[in-house]
Amino acid sequence: MSKQFDVVVIGGGPGGYVAAIRAAQLGMAVACIDEWKNAAGGPALGGTCTNVGCIPSKALLQSSEYFEHATHSFADHGISTGKVAMDVAKMIARKDGVVKQNNDGIQYLFKKNKVTFFHGRGSFVKAVDGGYEIKVAGKEEESITGKQIIVATGSNARALPGVPFDEDKILSNDGALRLGATPKKLGLIGAGVIGLEMGSVWRRLGTEVTVLEGMDKFLPTVDEQIAKEAKKAFDKQGLKIELGVKVGEVKTDKKGVNISYTNAKGEAQQLEVDKLIVSIGRVANTIGLNPEAVGIKLDERGAIVVDDDCKTNLPGVWAVGDVVRGPMLAHKAEEEGVAVAERIAGQHGHVNFATLPSVIYTSPEVAWVGRTEQQLKADGVAYKAGTFPFLANGRARALGDTTGMVKFLADATTDEILGVHMVGPMVSELISEAVVAMEFKASSEDIARICHAHPSLSESTKEAALAVDKRTLNF
Ligand code: FAD
Repeated sequence: MSKQFDVVVIGGGPGGYVAAIRAAQLGMAVACIDEWKNAAGGPALGGTCTNVGCIPSKALLQSSEYFEHATHSFADHGISTGKVAMDVAKMIARKDGVVKQNNDGIQYLFKKNKVTFFHGRGSFVKAVDGGYEIKVAGKEEESITGKQIIVATGSNARALPGVPFDEDKILSNDGALRLGATPKKLGLIGAGVIGLEMGSVWRRLGTEVTVLEGMDKFLPTVDEQIAKEAKKAFDKQGLKIELGVKVGEVKTDKKGVNISYTNAKGEAQQLEVDKLIVSIGRVANTIGLNPEAVGIKLDERGAIVVDDDCKTNLPGVWAVGDVVRGPMLAHKAEEEGVAVAERIAGQHGHVNFATLPSVIYTSPEVAWVGRTEQQLKADGVAYKAGTFPFLANGRARALGDTTGMVKFLADATTDEILGVHMVGPMVSELISEAVVAMEFKASSEDIARICHAHPSLSESTKEAALAVDKRTLNF
């Protein structure tokens, strides 16, 4: 007889593992199935985010930022270092260690919360009385049943048509995060979040990086003023970004990769690089899930169709995270996972898409929540804007990083905050204040009247809120 659970979660990334823990906290008998393998073939919980996404990319961004400080900024502080060298193998090994700490942390949390973990591939077999039978194909094959199923199978990198990833010269995020040496020349197709983060890592270590982007606007979903400021900073750093290009043939040979493309003026161009990272988006993953066995509806892009509550077309089957509509972000996946577990328990789980923050962890960082100025114009909303540059912030001067600004957008009549956009140092941390404020429907005046510690970068948030009413104190 197969093991029976109240909830079976398929996928142990941020959507799945968090859903499993929350469901267990609510008193349910929970199983989580995940197939990710570490180098030794053992489990590596945490999905894309922990293994080849959020966490390893931030580990490499940190190492490369320290390297850049050591080579470029330490001298300004009177620190002489002699010749600074980067041991790429050690940097990658450190990153692997950080990933492992996170993998192990999730296994510990499963034990603590009594979530039963199965290492292997989970696939639908059939609907049974009061639930679904799921096959787990791991070292051995077994069958389990769940009254409720949460699918959190994530996404995979999208390849260029006819140019499969070989993870040697043509790299997805996976290969890009484990290069053995600093390439001389790196090409990047796609100037999105992942492309810019990966490009920044290797540029800081001395690689000549060229980014080819099909759109003719840089970061089109970001507030235009902020995107312009970020582009200015990236240009200054020597990150070559070509917009409005059309990529043609991509050929590999012993030496590297040759990319034919036409630039924005329609001129034929060639780019020769040692490695090419393709970061043109991600595709929802249902490979091996066998959704046809029970008739789960997918959309034309292969994502599982869900309603606002993450319910699929089948009773008792839910789906969360990258495998469904919406932004492909780890915190969005987590929020959906928690909300679904709570809904299964009869509570009222809730995800507010209007206050989901977005961050690009480059230097300067870019972070935002709510609507951009161009969206407000398109929506015909009357608004007031206030900006404050880090150049006028004492803490930023002390840090030696005064790039960028904070920008507030508030309703012209009610003063409710409609969007906050930031580019500059540590704005990945600063954005949380704006998220909290918007969640509580605060006005810009509320933020302007809150005491912020001095000297801190967060004073720029207060000053930008004051700027909405044209009364900045320090600019
Ligand atoms: P995933 O994390 O993809 O997890 C899905 C899991 O399910 C995987 O472990 C997979 O092996 C497993 N699985 C799939 N099918 C089966 C099956 N049939 N049986 C068993 N197991 C299965 N987001 C952010 O918010 N912040 C960031 O800084 C950030 N940085 C990123 C950097 C990079 C380079 C990349 C690629 C992504 C980044 N993301 C970031 C996006 C983030 O990683 C995803 O949004 C997030 O991982 C989605 O979580 P998920 O649980 O839906 O899926």
